[in-house]
Amino acid sequence: MTTKSTHTKKELDDLRQRLLDEQAELNDQLTTIEETSFSTSQSDLSGEVSFDEENADAGTFTFERERDLSIENNVRDLLGKIDRALTRMDEGTYGICSRCGKPIEKARLKALPYVDLCIKDAQAQSRR
Ligand SMILES: [Zn+2]
Repeated sequence: MTTKSTHTKKELDDLRQRLLDEQAELNDQLTTIEETSFSTSQSDLSGEVSFDEENADAGTFTFERERDLSIENNVRDLLGKIDRALTRMDEGTYGICSRCGKPIEKARLKALPYVDLCIKDAQAQSRR
């Protein structure tokens, strides 16, 4: 079985536009998170998070910073996936499962245009 993209040019263009929109939105989010983190750390003159257990404020600060970091990591993760999806579009391998080489379900790509695994392989991966 040959593995080639099963999408028409029109479908690919639509999906590419969605990826670009999503990418712009995530970059906005990242900027917001970074601005927020920056203004928070400015109030901390040492520039380091204190782990002193008696300092309740530092604990709260650490928690909020970590929450921001985990959101930031998610956003960066997603941006990486979008980046790779756009590269695959350029290479003509978009919509092909990177594990089994079969076409990824179109409905799945409509919902999540940046995925690179078919449903079966994505489920297998999340079970690990
Ligand atoms: Zn697969």
